[in-house]
Amino acid sequence: MKPLSPGSTIGILGGGQLGRMLATAAARLGFDVIILDPEPDCPASRVSARHLAAPYDDAEALKVLAGSCGVVTVEFENVPAAALETLIALGVPVAPGPRALAIAQDRVDEKTFLNGAGAPTVAFAAASTAGEAAGAAEALGGRVLIKTRREGYDGKGQAWAASAGEAGAVFRALGERPVIVEAPADFRRELSIIAARGWDGAVAAFPLAENTHVQGILRRSVAPAAVSPDQVLEAGEIARRILDGLDYVGVIGIELFELGDGRLLVNEIAPRVHNSGHWTQDGAAIDQFEQHVRAVTGWPLGPAHATARVEMTNLLGDEVTQWAALAADPTCRLHLYGKREARPGRKMAHVNRMSDL
Ligand code: AMP
Repeated sequence: MKPLSPGSTIGILGGGQLGRMLATAAARLGFDVIILDPEPDCPASRVSARHLAAPYDDAEALKVLAGSCGVVTVEFENVPAAALETLIALGVPVAPGPRALAIAQDRVDEKTFLNGAGAPTVAFAAASTAGEAAGAAEALGGRVLIKTRREGYDGKGQAWAASAGEAGAVFRALGERPVIVEAPADFRRELSIIAARGWDGAVAAFPLAENTHVQGILRRSVAPAAVSPDQVLEAGEIARRILDGLDYVGVIGIELFELGDGRLLVNEIAPRVHNSGHWTQDGAAIDQFEQHVRAVTGWPLGPAHATARVEMTNLLGDEVTQWAALAADPTCRLHLYGKREARPGRKMAHVNRMSDL
């Protein structure tokens, strides 16, 4: 794609904090942004040129986007892939494309794709009945993690079965929906790699982050993670295989398990900028938001090396009331999302605590 000129407009499907930070990065490069998000007053709407408050598959809104934008992207992976197909049919470039979204929306399709692309995962099986779930658990060694194939996030829609005998009950507790049955990953740490691919196939990866989850929600990322040179190469190779296999354009988040012997397995992919990449705002040569804007607009990818060590902590719910103390701490960089209501567990802000490399 010919590089999009400053002054052009970028469409973003989704208007949460990721859209807000993308819109800010886009503005810095001279672009205008139109957000499509059904929620009035969403975080990104207040830093963007225009907000279309309509469902993601609203025909009129998609027509406006296609007519106004040089490219359309997403900040949210559960946008219907059909909305992206419609935009492409209307003649506007879309990045990442509908196939990447569709694959990331279904945990079985995702792990099937990953293994086919040479990116290893835990052993798994699909199940659509309690009997199939029990059979899959038996084949995978008894103790398994069962997850709904679709619409799970932040640890929701998943539960452990201690044995094949329990798997049927867990399947029913998850709502008798199609599931993936996964062997346990005996991991030492959770890591992630944020990488980008341009329209020309160029790839750039940020250093790895080490992530801590509490009750399925990311609490903290430390980057650059302490990893061996071999692991850096392995993670980079995994990222390249995934990006090339999806013919992907934009930034992707790849969550990894580090096993006891140091090997890396892919847990899941997020076809968008990622919470575990927020450290790059204050600790990398350019951040993941600018990198995504550069990738989707056909600009050259920017340098992705670390410039500082960062501990990123999410501020959930009323933890955001700590803002004044954090603002007074010279080692901290605060990023607030402008959300009106601090519901328990809701991601309200993050803080990057800086130290020297
Ligand atoms: P997910 O929704 O797939 O990202 O899973 C949420 C969290 O559950 C992960 O960050 C891991 O801590 C844990 N988890 C997911 N899959 C597995 C697995 N197969 N074995 C062990 N832990 C897992």
